[in-house]
Amino acid sequence: MCVFCEIIKGNIPSTKVYEDDLMVAFKDLNPVAPVHILCVPKVHIASANDINAENSGAVAHIFEKLSEIAASQGITSYRIINNCGADAGQTVMHLHFHLIGGTEMGEKLI
Ligand code: 5GP
Ligand code: ZN
Repeated sequence: MCVFCEIIKGNIPSTKVYEDDLMVAFKDLNPVAPVHILCVPKVHIASANDINAENSGAVAHIFEKLSEIAASQGITSYRIINNCGADAGQTVMHLHFHLIGGTEMGEKLI
């Protein structure tokens, strides 16, 4: 089972900041900013390439909750990042969105 499925099941410990039926949000093990939260659907979707009409509700739900999760961490300005596939540096093959903030962030790619 993948590492994020293990975290969702509680078999691997994590610092959860939000959880409901469809998603969990927990602190990244190696934060790159004062706020670095991983927002993860409970359903195992390997990557953004695997989002489809059947599972996109869980993805939409994550985006509905972003502002609430950010606010719970004391921020209203943040960056959302998804790495899809090897060239983009995806290391955990369970779809996740990095919510990063709490500092003035550096160079933008876009
Ligand atoms: P990716 O590189 O796939 O976009 O992001 C994977 C992220 O998961 C990395 O930022 C990494 O620090 C984080 N990560 C990997 N394993 C664990 C873990 O067991 N617990 C937590 N909290 N974060 C993890
Ligand atoms: Zn998984």
